[in-house]
Amino acid sequence: MTRNIKIDEEIIIGDGSFTIIAGPCAIENREQMENIGAFLARLGIKIIRGGAFKPRTNPNSFQGLGLEGLKLMAEIKSKYNLKYISEIMDPRDIEMAFDYIDIIQIGSRNMQNFSLLKEVGKTDKPVMLKRGMSATIKEWIMAAEYIRLEGNERIILCERGIRTFEDYTRNTLDLMSIPILKEISDYPVFVDPSHGTGRRELILPASEASKSLKADGIVVEIHPNPEKALSDGGQSLNFNEFEALYKELM
Ligand code: PEP
Ligand code: MN
Repeated sequence: MTRNIKIDEEIIIGDGSFTIIAGPCAIENREQMENIGAFLARLGIKIIRGGAFKPRTNPNSFQGLGLEGLKLMAEIKSKYNLKYISEIMDPRDIEMAFDYIDIIQIGSRNMQNFSLLKEVGKTDKPVMLKRGMSATIKEWIMAAEYIRLEGNERIILCERGIRTFEDYTRNTLDLMSIPILKEISDYPVFVDPSHGTGRRELILPASEASKSLKADGIVVEIHPNPEKALSDGGQSLNFNEFEALYKELM
């Protein structure tokens, strides 16, 4: 049995429902987030994503708006009645970000950042633990154990692809982790088809496959104008594309 993770009275993850989380790779500005918030609310999406702290490969790339981004999200959230998931990269930011974020995301690059895992384990917020890009399933479960042993059992795992020799896709989405995790753990399992493929045209088939394999949900990157996105535009869906995906899946 998958454990249920209650986000609020209406949103329960792990109860057999399929939850779609969407939003931009990064919070960029008010206009972008207003557009996205209004769009998601119109579709009935309840959880928005959007990085304020961005783990970028190149230190000269856009690093996110930090606290300013979180404050902007507080307005968008209450205006459109959304819950918010966002990545924390540094244990020192947990306290500052705490009241702004409903689900703490631990990114792939930090899956084995044990001091970060222990700190989020001391909170009572749901944590989405993304798979390390070179982590085995067992290592991933052990990383979750670091959070659980501190007392926080509200953990959601997110498959986001692993590094292989294949470079047609950005990562190799290991969809078999879904049934395997369902067998050996009781954590809800999400899939991130955006980082998992890095290619817009593969997001629909990856999402459909995830749903058939009984994933508890997906996290999808969207942007009002992907060509202008400050990060991950090539894997972000525009509003029409996302609406088509949403209708297909639901
Ligand atoms: C993200 O979801 O914003 C992200 C950076 O993904 P990952 O940690 O899986 O690379
Ligand atoms: Mn991204």
